Amino acid sequence: MGAAPRLTLKPGRERSLLRRHPWIFSGAIAEVRGAPQSGDTVDVRGADGHFLAWAAYSPASQIRARVWSFDEAEIPGPDLFERRIGAALDLRRATVPPETTNALRLVHGESDGLPGLVADRYADTLVVQILSAGCERWRDALIAILRERSGCARIHERSDTEGRELEGLSASAGLIAGTAVDGPLEIVEHGIRYEVDVAAGQKTGFYLDQRDNRARVGLLAEGREALNGFSYTGGFALCALAGGARSVLSIDSSAPALELAKRNLALNGLEADRAEWLEADVFGALRGLRTEDRQFDLVVLDPPKFAPTPKDAERAARGYKDINLNALKLLRRGGLLATFSCSGGVSPELFQKILAGAAADAGVSLLLRERYRAAADHPVRIEFPEGEYLKGLLLERL
Ligand code: SAH
Repeated sequence: MGAAPRLTLKPGRERSLLRRHPWIFSGAIAEVRGAPQSGDTVDVRGADGHFLAWAAYSPASQIRARVWSFDEAEIPGPDLFERRIGAALDLRRATVPPETTNALRLVHGESDGLPGLVADRYADTLVVQILSAGCERWRDALIAILRERSGCARIHERSDTEGRELEGLSASAGLIAGTAVDGPLEIVEHGIRYEVDVAAGQKTGFYLDQRDNRARVGLLAEGREALNGFSYTGGFALCALAGGARSVLSIDSSAPALELAKRNLALNGLEADRAEWLEADVFGALRGLRTEDRQFDLVVLDPPKFAPTPKDAERAARGYKDINLNALKLLRRGGLLATFSCSGGVSPELFQKILAGAAADAGVSLLLRERYRAAADHPVRIEFPEGEYLKGLLLERL
Protein backbone atom coordinates (compact mmCIF):
# COMPACT_ATOMS: atom_id res chain seq x y z
CA MET A 1 0.00 0.00 0.00
CA GLY A 2 3.08 2.24 -0.23
CA ALA A 3 1.49 3.95 -3.20
CA ALA A 4 -1.76 4.89 -1.42
CA PRO A 5 -2.83 8.50 -1.79
CA ARG A 6 -1.86 10.56 1.22
CA LEU A 7 -3.69 13.10 3.41
CA THR A 8 -1.49 15.33 5.49
CA LEU A 9 -3.13 17.14 8.38
CA LYS A 10 -2.53 20.68 9.56
CA PRO A 11 -0.31 21.06 12.62
CA GLY A 12 -2.19 20.18 15.82
CA ARG A 13 -5.11 18.61 13.94
CA GLU A 14 -3.88 15.07 14.61
CA ARG A 15 -5.09 15.31 18.20
CA SER A 16 -8.50 13.70 17.72
CA LEU A 17 -6.91 10.87 15.72
CA LEU A 18 -4.40 10.22 18.47
CA ARG A 19 -7.44 9.79 20.73
CA ARG A 20 -8.78 7.32 18.15
CA HIS A 21 -11.75 9.38 17.03
CA PRO A 22 -12.46 8.09 13.51
CA TRP A 23 -13.54 11.27 11.66
CA ILE A 24 -11.28 13.63 9.72
CA PHE A 25 -12.98 16.92 8.90
CA SER A 26 -12.15 18.81 5.71
CA GLY A 27 -10.81 21.77 7.68
CA ALA A 28 -8.13 19.61 9.34
CA ILE A 29 -6.48 18.67 6.05
CA ALA A 30 -3.41 20.57 4.83
CA GLU A 31 -2.70 18.57 1.68
CA VAL A 32 -4.09 15.74 -0.45
CA ARG A 33 -1.62 13.90 -2.66
CA GLY A 34 -2.24 11.17 -5.23
CA ALA A 35 -5.77 12.21 -6.38
CA PRO A 36 -7.89 9.77 -4.33
CA GLN A 37 -11.38 8.99 -5.62
CA SER A 38 -14.51 8.59 -3.50
CA GLY A 39 -14.05 5.65 -1.12
CA ASP A 40 -10.36 5.12 -1.86
CA THR A 41 -8.08 4.24 1.01
CA VAL A 42 -5.81 7.10 2.02
CA ASP A 43 -2.74 7.11 4.22
CA VAL A 44 -3.28 9.80 6.85
CA ARG A 45 -0.21 11.58 8.21
CA GLY A 46 0.39 14.25 10.80
CA ALA A 47 2.08 17.53 9.88
CA ASP A 48 5.38 15.94 10.95
CA GLY A 49 4.89 13.07 8.49
CA HIS A 50 4.07 10.39 11.07
CA PHE A 51 1.54 7.69 10.15
CA LEU A 52 -1.80 8.23 11.91
CA ALA A 53 -4.39 6.04 10.20
CA TRP A 54 -5.77 4.34 7.12
CA ALA A 55 -9.01 6.02 6.15
CA ALA A 56 -11.65 6.07 3.43
CA TYR A 57 -11.68 9.29 1.41
CA SER A 58 -14.99 11.06 0.85
CA PRO A 59 -14.50 14.16 -1.31
CA ALA A 60 -18.14 15.34 -1.10
CA SER A 61 -18.45 15.22 2.68
CA GLN A 62 -17.44 17.57 5.46
CA ILE A 63 -16.25 14.38 7.14
CA ARG A 64 -13.60 14.10 4.44
CA ALA A 65 -12.28 10.74 5.59
CA ARG A 66 -13.33 7.99 8.03
CA VAL A 67 -10.74 5.83 9.68
CA TRP A 68 -10.59 2.12 8.94
CA SER A 69 -7.59 1.49 11.17
CA PHE A 70 -5.06 3.23 13.40
CA ASP A 71 -2.60 0.37 12.87
CA GLU A 72 -0.20 0.77 9.95
CA ALA A 73 0.03 -3.01 9.54
CA GLU A 74 -3.75 -3.36 9.22
CA ILE A 75 -4.42 -2.61 5.55
CA PRO A 76 -8.13 -2.04 4.78
CA GLY A 77 -9.71 -4.79 2.71
CA PRO A 78 -11.75 -7.98 3.01
CA ASP A 79 -9.52 -9.55 5.70
CA LEU A 80 -9.96 -6.56 7.98
CA PHE A 81 -13.73 -6.44 7.33
CA GLU A 82 -14.00 -10.15 8.05
CA ARG A 83 -12.33 -9.62 11.45
CA ARG A 84 -14.42 -6.57 12.30
CA ILE A 85 -17.71 -8.23 11.35
CA GLY A 86 -16.66 -11.36 13.23
CA ALA A 87 -15.91 -9.29 16.34
CA ALA A 88 -19.25 -7.47 16.01
CA LEU A 89 -21.13 -10.79 15.91
CA ASP A 90 -19.14 -12.11 18.89
CA LEU A 91 -20.08 -9.02 20.88
CA ARG A 92 -23.78 -9.59 20.20
CA ARG A 93 -23.48 -13.23 21.20
CA ALA A 94 -21.80 -12.17 24.45
CA THR A 95 -24.24 -9.39 25.32
CA VAL A 96 -27.71 -10.27 24.01
CA PRO A 97 -29.08 -13.62 25.23
CA PRO A 98 -30.59 -15.48 22.26
CA GLU A 99 -33.96 -15.91 23.98
CA THR A 100 -34.36 -12.10 24.14
CA THR A 101 -35.08 -11.62 20.45
CA ASN A 102 -34.48 -12.69 16.88
CA ALA A 103 -34.03 -9.09 15.75
CA LEU A 104 -30.64 -7.52 16.37
CA ARG A 105 -28.33 -4.80 15.15
CA LEU A 106 -25.32 -6.85 14.06
CA VAL A 107 -23.17 -3.94 12.92
CA HIS A 108 -23.41 -0.40 14.26
CA GLY A 109 -21.05 1.67 12.11
CA GLU A 110 -18.17 3.48 13.77
CA SER A 111 -18.92 1.78 17.10
CA ASP A 112 -18.01 -1.55 15.50
CA GLY A 113 -15.01 -0.20 13.61
CA LEU A 114 -16.96 -0.09 10.33
CA PRO A 115 -17.75 3.58 9.64
CA GLY A 116 -20.98 3.99 7.71
CA LEU A 117 -22.11 0.37 7.83
CA VAL A 118 -25.31 -0.69 9.57
CA ALA A 119 -26.66 -4.24 9.47
CA ASP A 120 -29.86 -5.25 11.24
CA ARG A 121 -31.07 -8.81 11.40
CA TYR A 122 -34.82 -9.41 11.42
CA ALA A 123 -35.36 -13.17 11.79
CA ASP A 124 -33.73 -14.55 8.63
CA THR A 125 -33.65 -11.23 6.78
CA LEU A 126 -30.68 -8.91 6.95
CA VAL A 127 -31.20 -5.21 6.28
CA VAL A 128 -28.10 -3.21 5.43
CA GLN A 129 -27.37 0.49 5.16
CA ILE A 130 -24.24 1.55 3.32
CA LEU A 131 -23.85 5.15 4.38
CA SER A 132 -20.23 6.09 3.68
CA ALA A 133 -18.08 6.40 0.58
CA GLY A 134 -15.65 3.87 2.05
CA CYS A 135 -18.33 1.21 2.54
CA GLU A 136 -19.75 1.92 -0.91
CA ARG A 137 -16.29 1.29 -2.40
CA TRP A 138 -16.17 -2.10 -0.66
CA ARG A 139 -19.89 -2.87 -0.96
CA ASP A 140 -19.57 -6.30 -2.63
CA ALA A 141 -16.99 -7.59 -0.17
CA LEU A 142 -18.95 -6.32 2.84
CA ILE A 143 -22.21 -7.81 1.63
CA ALA A 144 -20.60 -11.17 0.86
CA ILE A 145 -19.08 -11.33 4.35
CA LEU A 146 -22.31 -10.25 6.04
CA ARG A 147 -24.30 -12.80 4.10
CA GLU A 148 -21.98 -15.62 4.99
CA ARG A 149 -21.43 -14.71 8.64
CA SER A 150 -25.07 -13.93 9.45
CA GLY A 151 -26.44 -16.96 7.63
CA CYS A 152 -29.44 -14.85 6.57
CA ALA A 153 -31.48 -16.07 3.62
CA ARG A 154 -31.96 -12.64 2.12
CA ILE A 155 -30.46 -9.19 2.23
CA HIS A 156 -32.45 -6.04 1.81
CA GLU A 157 -30.73 -2.69 1.31
CA ARG A 158 -32.07 0.51 2.89
CA SER A 159 -29.40 3.01 1.93
CA ASP A 160 -32.05 5.66 1.41
CA THR A 161 -31.23 8.06 4.24
CA GLU A 162 -29.97 11.64 4.05
CA GLY A 163 -26.60 10.47 5.36
CA ARG A 164 -25.87 9.06 1.91
CA GLU A 165 -26.44 12.37 0.19
CA LEU A 166 -23.91 14.03 2.48
CA GLU A 167 -21.40 11.46 1.24
CA GLY A 168 -22.23 12.30 -2.37
CA LEU A 169 -23.94 8.95 -2.90
CA SER A 170 -27.38 8.42 -4.40
CA ALA A 171 -30.10 6.49 -2.56
CA SER A 172 -30.17 2.75 -3.04
CA ALA A 173 -32.83 0.41 -1.71
CA GLY A 174 -34.30 -3.00 -2.47
CA LEU A 175 -33.65 -6.70 -2.27
CA ILE A 176 -29.99 -7.40 -3.07
CA ALA A 177 -29.63 -11.09 -2.24
CA GLY A 178 -31.99 -14.05 -1.88
CA THR A 179 -35.70 -14.08 -2.61
CA ALA A 180 -38.38 -11.82 -1.18
CA VAL A 181 -40.11 -12.87 2.05
CA ASP A 182 -43.31 -14.75 1.48
CA GLY A 183 -45.85 -12.66 3.41
CA PRO A 184 -45.18 -10.32 6.31
CA LEU A 185 -41.85 -10.48 8.11
CA GLU A 186 -42.29 -11.16 11.80
CA ILE A 187 -39.92 -10.84 14.74
CA VAL A 188 -40.19 -11.58 18.46
CA GLU A 189 -38.74 -9.31 21.10
CA HIS A 190 -39.04 -10.00 24.83
CA GLY A 191 -41.97 -12.29 24.04
CA ILE A 192 -43.87 -9.74 21.94
CA ARG A 193 -44.44 -10.30 18.24
CA TYR A 194 -44.05 -7.53 15.69
CA GLU A 195 -44.52 -7.35 11.98
CA VAL A 196 -41.67 -5.35 10.44
CA ASP A 197 -41.82 -3.59 7.07
CA VAL A 198 -38.20 -3.65 5.95
CA ALA A 199 -39.02 -2.27 2.50
CA ALA A 200 -41.01 0.83 3.45
CA GLY A 201 -40.77 1.19 7.25
CA GLN A 202 -38.71 3.88 8.95
CA LYS A 203 -34.94 3.38 9.25
CA THR A 204 -34.34 -0.31 8.56
CA GLY A 205 -37.91 -1.13 9.68
CA PHE A 206 -37.82 -1.09 13.48
CA TYR A 207 -36.27 0.82 16.37
CA LEU A 208 -34.16 -1.97 17.82
CA ASP A 209 -32.27 0.38 20.16
CA GLN A 210 -35.33 0.72 22.42
CA ARG A 211 -35.75 -3.05 22.92
CA ASP A 212 -34.91 -3.27 26.63
CA ASN A 213 -36.46 0.10 27.49
CA ARG A 214 -39.78 -0.97 25.95
CA ALA A 215 -39.71 -4.14 28.06
CA ARG A 216 -38.76 -2.22 31.22
CA VAL A 217 -41.48 0.39 30.81
CA GLY A 218 -43.98 -2.41 30.13
CA LEU A 219 -43.19 -3.88 33.54
CA LEU A 220 -44.13 -0.58 35.20
CA ALA A 221 -47.44 -0.20 33.40
CA GLU A 222 -49.75 -2.37 35.51
CA GLY A 223 -53.06 -0.68 36.23
CA ARG A 224 -51.99 2.60 34.64
CA GLU A 225 -53.67 4.79 32.07
CA ALA A 226 -50.90 5.36 29.57
CA LEU A 227 -50.09 7.83 26.83
CA ASN A 228 -47.54 6.79 24.20
CA GLY A 229 -46.26 9.75 22.19
CA PHE A 230 -44.41 8.97 18.92
CA SER A 231 -45.60 5.37 18.96
CA TYR A 232 -44.37 4.18 15.53
CA THR A 233 -45.59 0.56 15.16
CA GLY A 234 -46.72 0.34 18.77
CA GLY A 235 -43.62 -0.88 20.62
CA PHE A 236 -44.16 0.82 23.97
CA ALA A 237 -47.94 0.46 23.68
CA LEU A 238 -47.82 -3.31 23.25
CA CYS A 239 -45.37 -3.66 26.12
CA ALA A 240 -47.55 -1.52 28.38
CA LEU A 241 -50.68 -3.50 27.44
CA ALA A 242 -48.89 -6.80 27.99
CA GLY A 243 -47.75 -5.40 31.34
CA GLY A 244 -51.33 -4.80 32.42
CA ALA A 245 -51.93 -1.15 31.54
CA ARG A 246 -55.57 -0.14 31.93
CA SER A 247 -55.45 1.71 28.60
CA VAL A 248 -52.93 3.14 26.17
CA LEU A 249 -53.46 6.11 23.89
CA SER A 250 -50.80 6.11 21.15
CA ILE A 251 -50.03 9.11 18.96
CA ASP A 252 -48.00 9.18 15.76
CA SER A 253 -48.06 11.29 12.61
CA SER A 254 -47.48 8.28 10.35
CA ALA A 255 -50.64 6.51 9.16
CA PRO A 256 -48.77 3.40 7.88
CA ALA A 257 -46.99 3.07 11.25
CA LEU A 258 -50.34 3.14 13.08
CA GLU A 259 -51.84 0.59 10.67
CA LEU A 260 -48.97 -1.74 11.44
CA ALA A 261 -49.34 -1.04 15.16
CA LYS A 262 -52.95 -2.22 15.02
CA ARG A 263 -51.92 -5.40 13.24
CA ASN A 264 -49.25 -5.94 15.89
CA LEU A 265 -51.86 -5.60 18.61
CA ALA A 266 -53.92 -8.34 17.01
CA LEU A 267 -50.84 -10.48 16.40
CA ASN A 268 -50.29 -10.57 20.15
CA GLY A 269 -53.92 -11.28 21.01
CA LEU A 270 -54.15 -8.07 23.03
CA GLU A 271 -57.62 -6.59 23.47
CA ALA A 272 -58.29 -3.77 21.04
CA ASP A 273 -60.53 -1.98 23.55
CA ARG A 274 -57.60 -1.03 25.78
CA ALA A 275 -55.75 0.61 22.87
CA GLU A 276 -56.55 3.92 21.23
CA TRP A 277 -54.62 5.18 18.18
CA LEU A 278 -54.41 8.79 17.13
CA GLU A 279 -52.84 10.03 13.90
CA ALA A 280 -51.64 13.49 14.87
CA ASP A 281 -48.74 15.78 15.54
CA VAL A 282 -47.71 15.13 19.15
CA PHE A 283 -46.91 18.79 19.80
CA GLY A 284 -50.49 19.82 19.07
CA ALA A 285 -52.12 16.66 20.40
CA LEU A 286 -50.66 17.13 23.90
CA ARG A 287 -52.20 20.59 24.04
CA GLY A 288 -55.51 19.17 22.83
CA LEU A 289 -55.52 16.52 25.57
CA ARG A 290 -54.91 19.23 28.12
CA THR A 291 -57.96 21.19 26.98
CA GLU A 292 -59.96 17.98 27.27
CA ASP A 293 -58.66 17.62 30.87
CA ARG A 294 -57.25 14.19 30.14
CA GLN A 295 -54.86 12.77 32.76
CA PHE A 296 -52.50 9.80 32.65
CA ASP A 297 -50.42 7.71 35.07
CA LEU A 298 -47.73 6.82 32.53
CA VAL A 299 -46.47 8.90 29.63
CA VAL A 300 -43.86 7.73 27.13
CA LEU A 301 -42.22 10.24 24.78
CA ASP A 302 -39.91 8.80 22.15
CA PRO A 303 -39.59 11.49 19.49
CA PRO A 304 -37.44 11.36 16.36
CA LYS A 305 -34.04 13.02 16.27
CA PHE A 306 -34.43 16.78 16.78
CA ALA A 307 -30.68 17.56 16.78
CA PRO A 308 -28.33 15.53 14.59
CA THR A 309 -25.33 17.63 15.72
CA PRO A 310 -24.47 19.89 18.69
CA LYS A 311 -25.12 22.89 16.38
CA ASP A 312 -28.84 22.10 16.45
CA ALA A 313 -28.95 21.56 20.22
CA GLU A 314 -30.63 24.84 21.08
CA ARG A 315 -33.53 24.44 18.68
CA ALA A 316 -33.86 20.81 19.74
CA ALA A 317 -33.88 21.81 23.40
CA ARG A 318 -36.94 23.97 22.78
CA GLY A 319 -38.71 21.00 21.17
CA TYR A 320 -37.90 18.66 24.05
CA LYS A 321 -38.91 21.26 26.61
CA ASP A 322 -42.24 21.80 24.87
CA ILE A 323 -43.35 18.17 24.69
CA ASN A 324 -42.07 17.30 28.14
CA LEU A 325 -43.66 20.33 29.77
CA ASN A 326 -46.99 19.49 28.15
CA ALA A 327 -46.64 15.84 29.09
CA LEU A 328 -46.00 16.77 32.73
CA LYS A 329 -49.20 18.78 32.75
CA LEU A 330 -51.08 15.60 31.80
CA LEU A 331 -49.42 13.46 34.47
CA ARG A 332 -51.20 12.60 37.71
CA ARG A 333 -49.32 12.61 41.02
CA GLY A 334 -47.46 9.32 41.31
CA GLY A 335 -47.45 9.10 37.53
CA LEU A 336 -44.38 8.11 35.51
CA LEU A 337 -42.81 9.89 32.56
CA ALA A 338 -40.45 7.78 30.42
CA THR A 339 -38.83 10.34 28.17
CA PHE A 340 -36.20 9.81 25.48
CA SER A 341 -33.88 11.70 23.18
CA CYS A 342 -32.05 10.10 20.27
CA SER A 343 -30.38 13.36 19.25
CA GLY A 344 -26.62 12.92 19.08
CA GLY A 345 -26.32 16.69 19.54
CA VAL A 346 -28.06 16.63 22.94
CA SER A 347 -25.91 15.21 25.74
CA PRO A 348 -27.41 13.25 28.65
CA GLU A 349 -26.55 16.21 30.92
CA LEU A 350 -28.33 18.69 28.66
CA PHE A 351 -31.35 16.39 28.37
CA GLN A 352 -31.64 16.16 32.14
CA LYS A 353 -31.37 19.96 32.41
CA ILE A 354 -34.16 20.37 29.87
CA LEU A 355 -36.34 18.09 32.00
CA ALA A 356 -35.47 20.05 35.12
CA GLY A 357 -36.55 23.21 33.31
CA ALA A 358 -39.81 21.62 32.18
CA ALA A 359 -40.54 20.42 35.72
CA ALA A 360 -39.90 23.90 37.11
CA ASP A 361 -42.24 25.47 34.55
CA ALA A 362 -44.90 22.86 35.25
CA GLY A 363 -44.51 23.48 38.99
CA VAL A 364 -43.86 19.81 39.79
CA SER A 365 -41.22 17.86 41.66
CA LEU A 366 -39.78 14.86 39.84
CA LEU A 367 -37.94 11.86 41.20
CA LEU A 368 -35.29 10.47 38.86
CA ARG A 369 -36.02 6.75 39.07
CA GLU A 370 -34.10 5.26 36.17
CA ARG A 371 -31.81 6.15 33.27
CA TYR A 372 -31.97 4.46 29.90
CA ARG A 373 -29.62 3.95 26.98
CA ALA A 374 -29.60 1.96 23.77
CA ALA A 375 -29.57 -1.85 23.97
CA ALA A 376 -26.24 -3.70 23.98
CA ASP A 377 -26.32 -4.37 20.24
CA HIS A 378 -25.76 -0.60 19.83
CA PRO A 379 -22.33 -0.50 21.46
CA VAL A 380 -20.60 2.69 22.51
CA ARG A 381 -16.87 3.31 22.14
CA ILE A 382 -15.57 5.72 24.67
CA GLU A 383 -13.51 7.45 21.97
CA PHE A 384 -16.60 7.95 19.80
CA PRO A 385 -19.18 9.71 21.99
CA GLU A 386 -21.41 10.28 18.95
CA GLY A 387 -22.27 6.58 19.28
CA GLU A 388 -24.08 7.27 22.55
CA TYR A 389 -27.04 9.03 20.97
CA LEU A 390 -29.98 7.51 22.84
CA LYS A 391 -30.71 8.49 26.41
CA GLY A 392 -33.82 8.29 28.51
CA LEU A 393 -35.08 9.16 31.96
CA LEU A 394 -37.81 7.63 34.04
CA LEU A 395 -39.28 10.36 36.21
CA GLU A 396 -41.96 10.03 38.86
CA ARG A 397 -44.18 12.99 39.61
CA LEU A 398 -44.19 13.38 43.40
N1 SAH B 1 -41.23 4.39 20.20
C1 SAH B 1 -41.16 3.81 18.89
C2 SAH B 1 -40.19 4.52 17.98
C3 SAH B 1 -40.51 5.98 17.75
S1 SAH B 1 -39.68 6.65 16.37
C4 SAH B 1 -40.86 2.33 19.02
O1 SAH B 1 -40.64 1.84 20.13
O2 SAH B 1 -40.83 1.64 17.99
C5 SAH B 1 -40.40 8.22 16.22
C6 SAH B 1 -41.82 8.26 15.67
O3 SAH B 1 -42.25 9.61 15.71
C7 SAH B 1 -41.99 7.84 14.22
O4 SAH B 1 -42.95 6.82 14.18
C8 SAH B 1 -42.52 9.07 13.48
O5 SAH B 1 -43.52 8.76 12.52
C9 SAH B 1 -43.11 9.86 14.60
N2 SAH B 1 -43.15 11.31 14.47
C10 SAH B 1 -42.21 12.16 14.03
N3 SAH B 1 -42.57 13.45 14.21
C11 SAH B 1 -43.81 13.42 14.79
C12 SAH B 1 -44.71 14.41 15.26
N4 SAH B 1 -44.41 15.70 15.18
N5 SAH B 1 -45.87 14.01 15.81
C13 SAH B 1 -46.18 12.69 15.90
N6 SAH B 1 -45.34 11.71 15.50
C14 SAH B 1 -44.18 12.07 14.95
